[in-house]
Amino acid sequence: MLVILKMGGAAITDKATYETANEEAIWKLAYAASQAYSLSKGKLQLIIVHGAGSFGHPQVVKYKVENGVRTPKQAYGYCRVRDSCSKLSASVMRELLDAGVPAVLLPTGAIAIQKNKHISHFHLDMINQALKMGLVPVLRGDMVFDEAIGASVCSGDHVIAYLCSKLKVDRAVFATDVDGVYTADPKTDKHARMFKEIKLSDLDRVKGAVSGAKTVDVTGGMKGKLAELKNINATVFVANAKEPERITALLLGKPALSTKIS
Ligand code: ADP
Repeated sequence: MLVILKMGGAAITDKATYETANEEAIWKLAYAASQAYSLSKGKLQLIIVHGAGSFGHPQVVKYKVENGVRTPKQAYGYCRVRDSCSKLSASVMRELLDAGVPAVLLPTGAIAIQKNKHISHFHLDMINQALKMGLVPVLRGDMVFDEAIGASVCSGDHVIAYLCSKLKVDRAVFATDVDGVYTADPKTDKHARMFKEIKLSDLDRVKGAVSGAKTVDVTGGMKGKLAELKNINATVFVANAKEPERITALLLGKPALSTKIS
């Protein structure tokens, strides 16, 4: 079975503080992945995609590259965004390898090209080769070349939607910093209630109640995520990264507290 784990930027960084990784959260997710990997006894094929959180996004804003790269200053900004994302990848890779996961970094910016902010070319053969070798490819939210506008942001969620459209993905587990999807932002609304399950056909209605990003996220926060999920053809679970046993269970197809979207 092929499963995707999203290490959400909200979970693995402090989104409010410039380039600050949450090493403990990364370790917990790496541990969850390694547990699932070994408990599955070779049955689990895993792809990991990490978000950017407080890496990458600040540079996108500083160099004004949200809508493409045209000037030399913006081109330099594109390089700074990629470099910032690489710093977070380094932390993710260290924890995964230390947890015993045979992880190999395939930075999205080096294997994908977009056209007007949508993936138009993608080296799926690299993902397939890694999987064939029993490895865990690690991709990320990144900036990538864009054949129409120079370069553009490709969120981790967009990468996952793309992979689900091209590969037979059994499920995708989105680990974030809250227990699931709620009727309102659970951090600011104490009356927010968590959905156990959302049908794809109800997603638009639910999206109306969900707020966009309040920090540096240029990819739309939970609202952006739900918009991306609308196009996904795999069962999705949104769950809390701080609870590794839940993540392990969901990766293995077992029940755990989360919001299921199908
Ligand atoms: P990630 O970076 O982990 O992919 P996002 O930052 O995009 O995740 O989305 C998670 C954030 O969305 C949470 O920190 C939460 O505070 C916020 N949020 C806003 N509205 C909702 C909602 N209705 N349900 C759950 N989370 C929400």
